Amino acid sequence: MNKEIYKIKTLNENNRMSTQELLQLINKKLEEGYINFDIEACGQHNIGGSSWARNREEELTFRIKNPGQRAGAMALSGTSIYIEGSAPADVGWLNSGAKIVVDGDCGDTAAHCAAGGKIYVSGRVGTRSGALMKHDPKFELPELWVLKNTGSFSFEFMGGGIAVICGYDCDGLNSILGNRSCVGMVGGVIYFRGKIQGVADCVDIQNLNDEDIAFLSSGMSDFLREIKKDALYNELSVWEEWKKIVPIKNKASNKMTVAEFRKNHWIENGIFGDFIKDDMVVYNLPSTGNGRVRIPVWNSENCVNCKICLNNCPNNAISENDKIYSCIDDKCIGCGICTAVCPNSCWNLISNRKEIS
Ligand code: SF4
Ligand code: SF4
Repeated sequence: MNKEIYKIKTLNENNRMSTQELLQLINKKLEEGYINFDIEACGQHNIGGSSWARNREEELTFRIKNPGQRAGAMALSGTSIYIEGSAPADVGWLNSGAKIVVDGDCGDTAAHCAAGGKIYVSGRVGTRSGALMKHDPKFELPELWVLKNTGSFSFEFMGGGIAVICGYDCDGLNSILGNRSCVGMVGGVIYFRGKIQGVADCVDIQNLNDEDIAFLSSGMSDFLREIKKDALYNELSVWEEWKKIVPIKNKASNKMTVAEFRKNHWIENGIFGDFIKDDMVVYNLPSTGNGRVRIPVWNSENCVNCKICLNNCPNNAISENDKIYSCIDDKCIGCGICTAVCPNSCWNLISNRKEIS
């Protein structure tokens, strides 16, 4: 192991190292035993991500300037990533245990799908941040701490984990969670301080209890220390100014059908706008006879009469007569199992498009 900091400058005059070259270089240096990296990036993607698993017994540290998208994506526990200045989209995408500290703002979808670790942001995060955060009980809860605010559609379909949005320096905003946040949220908790509006009706806004305050008190110290803003602790720890958002459990009576959702909420002329005219009728697929999508055709050449096809057809659609095999059309569903199980490739599935068109 080499504890020296390995420095990488990715721009040499006008020659820029590609993402692939950079990741390969990091990988090579990891194999040589380096565990500390200082990277002056030039928009390369995925720096600090999951490929560093081999050195997990040692803490890996990445200090990155000017990263591209997905810094720390799928990063594992035992990894610390410090980003100097702001970072573009997908910081900590599917974070799986790393600590990621961003000394600036994050683009859209920060912490998207995060499943573990902690992401600390000293500025704002963009649209859809925290969406699809989740909690696997085998691992610690993922956490997203943001000093300022989030963009719209944040925490969509959040299924677990904890987000803390401090609302610092947000006096002019109508909503520190943007618009339409928490749509489809089914798990986790969002602590926030400041004005919000347009939050989905599947969630409840509640006062903090003692457990919440204990969590925020200790977590806030760690967060502010990491972003080097310890001096804000007193201002941000007036817990009466905080609330939490949790999903409403057992809201079965308010569930809407897909048809109702499309009729009332689908955005006309949006990218899925065509579906708004969907008649919602589900047509059965033709399954047997001439309506089959595919037809098995038998070839005698290599057949050894093992009967494997006959015994595995789920619909008893294969008959045998004097070592001649055939498919019974009005029973066959074209599943292809006979072609898969035959050891001698005697069955061949052909398209039945002419018949069904
Ligand atoms: S395609 Fe499926 S249903 Fe038809 S003969 Fe083969 S195994 Fe049986
Ligand atoms: S599985 Fe193949 S080899 Fe065996 S009987 Fe069927 S067609 Fe012949």
